[in-house]
Amino acid sequence: MKKDREEDRGFILEWLREENTERLRDLWRAADRTRRECVGEAVHLRALVEISNTCVRQCAYCGLRAGNAGLERYRMNREEILRCVRDSEALGIGTVVLQGAEDFGLSREWIADIVRQIKQETSMAVTLSLGERTIHELETWRDAGADRYFLRFETSDPDLYKRIHPPRRTRPISRIRLLQRLKNLGYETGSGVMIGIPGQSYTSLANDILLFRQLDLDMIGVGPWLPNPATPMGALRDMFPDCPDQVPNTEDMAYKVIALTRIHCPEANIPSTTALATLNAENGYERGLNRGANVIMPNCTPAGYRRKYEIYPKKVLLSHPKSNVEGICLRIASLGRQIGRGQGQRIRHEKCEKRYATLPMSTRGAA
Ligand code: SAH
Repeated sequence: MKKDREEDRGFILEWLREENTERLRDLWRAADRTRRECVGEAVHLRALVEISNTCVRQCAYCGLRAGNAGLERYRMNREEILRCVRDSEALGIGTVVLQGAEDFGLSREWIADIVRQIKQETSMAVTLSLGERTIHELETWRDAGADRYFLRFETSDPDLYKRIHPPRRTRPISRIRLLQRLKNLGYETGSGVMIGIPGQSYTSLANDILLFRQLDLDMIGVGPWLPNPATPMGALRDMFPDCPDQVPNTEDMAYKVIALTRIHCPEANIPSTTALATLNAENGYERGLNRGANVIMPNCTPAGYRRKYEIYPKKVLLSHPKSNVEGICLRIASLGRQIGRGQGQRIRHEKCEKRYATLPMSTRGAA
C-alpha cells in the first residue's frame, strides 16, 4: 500500500515536471482516453450562481476577503436566486451550484428553505459551496435535499495552509476533516486546490493529487492561482515568497494537474474551470475538456452581481447567462462532445481503477 503510494507520487512528480511538448501529448492522450472510458463523451453543465460576496474570512489569496474594503458587498435575495435557478433549468442545465463567500447572513434556515424550494419546483441537483459551515448547518441542508457540497482544501500542506489562512478567534475544524463529514452525511463531495500559489512545491502538489484519491472525491476542481492586487498574496509578494521547488501558476501546469487527476481519479467529475478560461479565453475550456475534464460551470449570476464576485481580476465576464450558456454549448459541440443530460452525478464502475497502466512513466529521465 505504502509502496504503491510512493510509486504514484513518483509518477505524478515526473509528469508535473515534464516540459517536453511531444511527451506531454502522451499525458493528454492518456487522460483523454481515461475520461472517455470512465465518464464518457458527455460534458455536464453546472449553473453557477454566486449568491453572496459578503465574507468574514481573510484568506490571503481571495478578493472577497473581509479586509478588501474596495469591494461593494451584496447578498442576493430569495426571489433573485430562485429566478436564476428557474432560468438555468429552462436552459437545460441539470445542476445548480449555489456558491458564496463565508457569509453568516446566509443562515441555516434561510438556505434550507431555498434548497427545499428548488427541490420541490425543479428536477435539478443542488450543489452548495458556502465555505466552512457547522455540522448542524450541513446536516440541515442535506435534510432539506442538497445533493452535493464543494469545498476546496486549497493545499494539503498544513504549514502552507496556515500561511495563507490567517488565524481566527475560534480554531476551525480542518477542511479535510469537514470533507469526510460531508461524505458521511451522504453528500456527493467535491474539493480541489489552486495551482501555483507562492510556497507550493512540486511535492506538495503531488500530495494534493494523492489526497484527491484518498478522499475518494466525487468532484475535483483545480485552477491556477491568479494574483489579485487587492489581496495580500497578490500585492505583498515579499510576505509570500516562492519556495525553492516552486510550482508555476501557468496554464500548462493546470492542464497537467487536470490530466493527472483524471488518471488518478478516473470517475470523478472534473470541471474545466473559469480560472483556466480566464488565463486563456480563446481555448482554455476546450483544452481542459480534451485533457481530462468533463464539466463546465457556466456563470449564471446576474451580471450586476457577477461583476462584484471578484475572487480574482478579469474573471471571464460574458454578457448574459443565456448567451453565455449558448456559447459554451457551441464550443462543446465543436469538440464533437455532447451536453450531458440529467443531473450528471458521479457513477461508480468497477472497471475504473486508476489508469496508470495506460501511460508509461514519464520518460523525462530517459531522455
Ligand atoms: N467561500 C467559498 C467559496 C468562494 S471562493 C469557499 O471557501 O469554498 C472559491 C474558490 O476560488 C476558492 O476555494 C479558491 O480555491 C478559489 N480562489 C480564490 N482566490 C483565488 C485566486 N486569487 N486565484 C484563483 N483561484 C482563487
